[in-house]
Order: sequence, then structure tokens, then C-alpha cells
Amino acid sequence: MNSLGNIGYRGDGPRRVTILGSTGSVGKSTVDLLLRHPDGFEVEALTANRNPGALAEQARALRARFAAIADPDHYPALKRALAGTGIEAGCGADALTEAALRPADWVMAAIVGAAGLAPTLSAIRRGAIVALANKEVLVCAGALVMQEVARCGATLLPVDSEHNAIWQCFDLARVDTIERIILTASGGPFRERAFEDMRRVTPREAVAHPNWSMGAKISVDSATMMNKGLELIEAHHLFQLPLERVEIVVHPQSIVHGAVVYRDGSVLAQLGSPDMRTPIAYALAWPNRIETPAKRLDLAAVGRLIGFLDIVETVERTLEAIPGGKLETLDDVYNFDTTARETAASLSGLRNSARSAAPTDSL
Ligand code: NDP
Repeated sequence: MNSLGNIGYRGDGPRRVTILGSTGSVGKSTVDLLLRHPDGFEVEALTANRNPGALAEQARALRARFAAIADPDHYPALKRALAGTGIEAGCGADALTEAALRPADWVMAAIVGAAGLAPTLSAIRRGAIVALANKEVLVCAGALVMQEVARCGATLLPVDSEHNAIWQCFDLARVDTIERIILTASGGPFRERAFEDMRRVTPREAVAHPNWSMGAKISVDSATMMNKGLELIEAHHLFQLPLERVEIVVHPQSIVHGAVVYRDGSVLAQLGSPDMRTPIAYALAWPNRIETPAKRLDLAAVGRLIGFLDIVETVERTLEAIPGGKLETLDDVYNFDTTARETAASLSGLRNSARSAAPTDSL
């Protein structure tokens, strides 16, 4: 377990950073944090795909040294927008690689999809600290990436909120004491929709995540739950745990982002409001912590999330959801009990409470 946390920000002068994918949702949140902490960071390079206006604006605001646009058709617009600023501009795949190779201490990998793999690997291969939002990098080449992290002495910091939460609770020095890790899943916008209804889902509905504001691809992946599959693979590579020691728990409120279960039964979890600036800030300042404007969690209000009145409503909806029938044997009763518990748990988002009352040998 040497991919996380083998070098750190010692606070000796501003940390020099690069953002791959600065015009996206994660990129913009990172830029927002940098603008709030002008003394702590200097910006080496920023990259985008087809958004030269936003890229140039960010580069000017952060006084970046280099701005790269992947799509060459947008290079002239980028050059024009940066004229007279002294900020260098580049385009195409080589420019993305150059952005990753320039001497930043810390690189945010926030390009969406497999397009982020090559520049992220370039940053890893020069031994940088790489804050990894771009989960597809591990999904499509996890073994290779982790091998290169170890070989090149790079450091990978998880940014995906669940993995970042687990990292905050994960005792890197005592991995042998860890039983399993838990990724939470909100269930996305269609958690309560009937399967048949989903045929008619529109793109606008699919990107409307109930808790998180994110880019289009990850929003759709969350709606189909593909995102949790990708995150399972991501967690397996990041924390070097077999898939059976990575558990997924549906938790619609997105307050507990992830947890680590230890052999002694202790569960350490990270909680916070659903705002990507918290996990990004943890990676950005790590091993320090910096101020963010993320809404503070009101634990008293959280305690009321599964309120007293929900009990009646959950029972009613469970009875409506499950078909009735004759219960003739003890096994029928236990099977019915299991179905009812699972239905109630999924309706209230408490998957783990769906344990059957049946003695194990009767099922
Ligand atoms: P967005 O779609 O909002 O942004 C993607 C960024 O990548 C933009 O800067 C875009 O440039 C750039 N980009 C897109 N295609 C290419 C390409 N072919 N070559 C180079 N650059 C490209 O994505 P998100 O910020 O939502 O997500 C980024 C990554 O982080 C994803 O892997 C996602 O799964 C992960 N993630 C995101 C979270 C979130 O809250 N958004 C949470 C956890 C993980 P342009 O603007 O010019 O199109």
C-alpha cells in the first residue's frame, strides 16, 4: 500500500499545481479553491477540450504559465484570448502531455473518460502528486497505472468523494487491521422509479442528480448506477483490496461518503455535505487542510433524516410494494420477512438494516 501518501506538502512555499480538465465540473471547483487561497498555490498549466473562452479566463485569473486545448480547431480562439498575457498556449494531444509534464508538484486529473489516461500517466511517470478524479483512468488501465505509481515514486490521491472519504479513514500504516471498505451510493435520480418507467427517461432527467452537481457523463453514470460499478473497480485498485472486501451501501442522503470497517468492529466514516470542494480541498492541501465554503453539516438535522414519521410511511409503502400471498410454512414466513425487510430498507435507503430475522439454518 504505497500509492497513497508517501510524499506530502510540507508547507514550504506555495504548491505549484496543474489542472487537467480545468473547465469541467471538478476542474472549476478546483479553480474556485485556488482563487480562494491565492497565497498557497501557483498555477503551472490548465487544459480543456473545446472551451477556449473559459480556459483563457481561468488562465488569466490564476496567472497560469501554460494553457492547452485538446481540440486543434479551438487553438486560434485560445491564442487570441491569451494575446498579450504572456501565457503560453498549446493544442492537441502533445500539448496535454506537455501540461502534465511541466514541473507542477501536484496535478489534478479531471479530464473525463479515457482521454485522461495518457496525460495522467505522464504526470505519474515524472513522480508527481496526482489527485485523481478521472476514475476511468483506473477502470481502463488500473493495473498498469498502479504499477507505474509504485515504479516512479508518484503519489495518487483519491478525489472521487467516496474514495476520498475512505482515504481519510484508512490507516495506511496498519492495512492488516482493515476488514473491508464501504462505498456509499445515493441511488441517483431514478432510485424509486419502476423499471418500465425508465425506458422513457430523458437526457435532462438523467443528468439531474438529486444531491451532486457534476458533469454530464458521471451524472448519467450515476443515474444508471454504472458509476458505482466504475467506483468499485477504482476502489479495488486504489486500496489494493479484493472486490469482495469492497461493499456498496445505498444511502440516498449523500452525507456519509465512505467508511472503513476495522477487524475490531470499529467503523470510521467521513461525513460532509455533498460538495466536491471538500474532497478536492483535502487532496489539494494534503496533508494540511484548508478552508472551503462547503455547507457545514448540521448533525442534529442529520439525526432526523430517518425520522419517526418515516416509520409509518415506510411500512405503508412496503406493504404496497410487495405482493401478498399465502404463508403456509415457516420458510414462507421467513422468506416474506426477508423480502419485506429488503423492500423497506431500499425505500428508506438503509440497505444494511435488511437483515432477516430467520435463523440461518431454516433458509
Ligand atoms: P466534465 O464533463 O464536467 O469536464 C470534463 C473536462 O475534461 C473538461 O475540462 C473538458 O473540456 C475536458 N475534456 C473532455 N473531453 C476531453 C478530451 N477528449 N480531451 C481532453 N480534455 C477533455 O467532467 P467532470 O468534471 O464531471 O468529471 C471529470 C472526471 O472526474 C470524470 O472522470 C468523473 O467521473 C470524475 N468525477 C467527477 C465528479 C464530479 O463531481 N463532477 C465527482 C467524482 C469524480 P471542455 O470543458 O473543453 O469540454
